[in-house]
Amino acid sequence: MTEKNKKGLTLINTGNGKGKTTAALGLALRAAGHDMRVCIIQFIKGGWQTGEAIALKQFQKQIDFHVMGSGFTWQAANLDEVIRQGRDAFDFARKKIADNMYDMIILDELTYLVKYEIITENAVVEMINNRPSGLHLVITGRDAGEKMIAAADLVTEMREIKHPFAQGIKACAGIEF
Ligand code: ATP
Ligand code: MG
Repeated sequence: MTEKNKKGLTLINTGNGKGKTTAALGLALRAAGHDMRVCIIQFIKGGWQTGEAIALKQFQKQIDFHVMGSGFTWQAANLDEVIRQGRDAFDFARKKIADNMYDMIILDELTYLVKYEIITENAVVEMINNRPSGLHLVITGRDAGEKMIAAADLVTEMREIKHPFAQGIKACAGIEF
């Protein structure tokens, strides 16, 4: 078996501390360095233009990058639209998985779709269990549920010890976005 077609793992980065998304982006960089095919789908919470979205334009050949959804906020003017876009984004992710074109797929902030009951946790577990056997699947977001944790191979909880936000320091380019 080559490095690229070993058993794929499911990884979850969860918890309240910072570092879930950035650790996943680190994996994408690491995998791309091995000529693995990577797809990143960000299920956005807000409308920020992130550094990764800009930088990844230079890695389009190795890393297929998509930002989906309209932001998960219950203050949104049209909740039905938020739900519809969230479900469409999840369908898009499942199609990417079924296409079997990638060695690693990162579903960034997927847990929010479950938390806000846009999709069920069972649907996520099915997605994990039915994926192509060689695919590494990386899921990030706070409050990962017990069922998806049980279905995963590697789960890390980022625990906040200190965050500059508590001192009133605003989100900083290159650190937060
Ligand atoms: P990052 O994208 O920096 O790796 P994350 O994915 O772990 O962070 P999220 O829960 O997705 O964190 O939150 C995204 C944003 O909230 C980031 O700008 C991050 O710096 C910030 N953030 C994360 N943890 C905290 C915290 N404990 N207090 C305040 N802000 C936080
Ligand atoms: Mg994140």
